[in-house]
Amino acid sequence: MAAETNAASPAVRPELWKALTLQSWGRAMPGPCLAARPERLRDLQAALAAPEGRALLPRGAGRSYGDACLNPGGAVVLTERLNRLLAFDPASGLLLAEPGVTFAELLRVFLPRGYLAPASPGTAFVTLGGAVAHDVHGKNQHLAGSIGEHIAWFDLLLADGSTRRVSPESDPALFQATIGGLGLTGILSAICLRLAPVPSNALLVRRQRMPDLDAFLAGFEAQAAAAYAVGWIDALAKGAALGRGVLEVAEPSPEGLPDRPPKPRRLPFDLPGLALNRLSISAFNELYWRRAPLIPQEERVAYERFLYPLDAILDWNRLYGRGGFHQFQCVLPFREGEPALRRLLETVAAGGNASFLAVLKAMGREGIGMLSFARPGYSLALDIPARPGSAALFAALERITVEAGGRIYLAKDSWLSPQGFAAMYPQAPDFQAVRARVDPDGAFSSGLSRRLGLG
Ligand SMILES: Cc1cc2nc3c(=O)[nH]c(=O)nc-3n(C[C@H](O)[C@H](O)[C@H](O)COP(=O)(O)OP(=O)(O)OC[C@H]3O[C@@H](n4cnc5c(N)ncnc54)[C@H](O)[C@@H]3O)c2cc1C
Repeated sequence: MAAETNAASPAVRPELWKALTLQSWGRAMPGPCLAARPERLRDLQAALAAPEGRALLPRGAGRSYGDACLNPGGAVVLTERLNRLLAFDPASGLLLAEPGVTFAELLRVFLPRGYLAPASPGTAFVTLGGAVAHDVHGKNQHLAGSIGEHIAWFDLLLADGSTRRVSPESDPALFQATIGGLGLTGILSAICLRLAPVPSNALLVRRQRMPDLDAFLAGFEAQAAAAYAVGWIDALAKGAALGRGVLEVAEPSPEGLPDRPPKPRRLPFDLPGLALNRLSISAFNELYWRRAPLIPQEERVAYERFLYPLDAILDWNRLYGRGGFHQFQCVLPFREGEPALRRLLETVAAGGNASFLAVLKAMGREGIGMLSFARPGYSLALDIPARPGSAALFAALERITVEAGGRIYLAKDSWLSPQGFAAMYPQAPDFQAVRARVDPDGAFSSGLSRRLGLG
């Protein structure tokens, strides 16, 4: 496979482009744009020349919640059809793949051979390109770090039409700017990722009911050595029950399971806005909590059921109705951040914003990208329906996070202010310096980059 090519400015090919209105996973901010869907790498270069000199954004599966994968008024290159597995070396676990390969495909092909993605987000429908561009993390971040740590190198199509093979050794600044780089340094055209060996297709999972936030945090601390850990919090619980939920920890199982889990079901329509209210969500959260055992019990569970529980219902984002929803996810430092964690939960519960289970994770390592989200601390993620008043609520959540020295996750974000971004991402000036080198004319842009003042 060709590693490096020289700069070549392609001419605009109008037949490649179609007017589309794209949505992100939250469905709250439609993005009208021109879109091209290249099927081969050679067509990718042609898509660099967008009609009318529009700014360009690569896009994967559109599983980001806010405007990171939207480019309203601009041009978008859809990469899901660039989805070939190119080479695999079982001795090293190194896989070379096109950017549109999904985690679902990795699981389907490589789990039966004893390999797994070393870090994986909570849905398998994410592409590798999208995962690198947000330096995604999984339920094992405290031990395995985020995905960027497991990338050996990638090929990057730059704004000038050249393709550069980039590794931590060949160009450390461009490598660190592109891991978590929001698709703003170029288009990833091939990714070399080190898969992790696993003994079987299953995990031994222990679930335990946690009565409140203190118990939860103590539970995480006690389980710091577990391979995987995740907490599901009832975000509507208040008072003494604030932060109650279910802690799940897991270890790879030496013995596998004979069958794969059942196929996912699809939610065939948008739920009417009124169906999701405080009462219905409270009832769901209560049931989820009560079903978990008081004393931990061990169960052998297929990897996909543990890693991707939400994938059991396709299009579950339609539960929030046509208006859509937003997600808030932040990471707060251990210890000093804990009062802020409580304040965030209190603010959401007091606002009466019905939210299904919130997700709590412990992160152990700083991400290697200049704009990586991960840092040691507790990460909290909450879904919040898009309603009048959302702006004030998100501003309050941002304030609490900044004051506690925390950081909001850009993959989930639709509301962060430029000032909040500058405070949370101190390496943004280094990132901008790399962009000035590889994209001096600002060919790449997104709704999120313009909102945050990244150009
Ligand atoms: C149910 C659910 C659970 C999730 N759980 C987690 C989680 O546990 N941990 C976590 O970290 N994230 C999580 N996410 C967020 C998700 O992992 C990220 O938003 C991811 O980036 C989505 O990938 P995508 O393929 O959909 O990319 P998109 O959303 O389409 O794009 C994301 C970014 O990647 C860029 N991009 C896409 N392809 C390329 C390319 N070829 N070259 C350069 N840039 C590119 C885009 O420009 C954009 O900036 C979750 C999302 C959902 C919906």
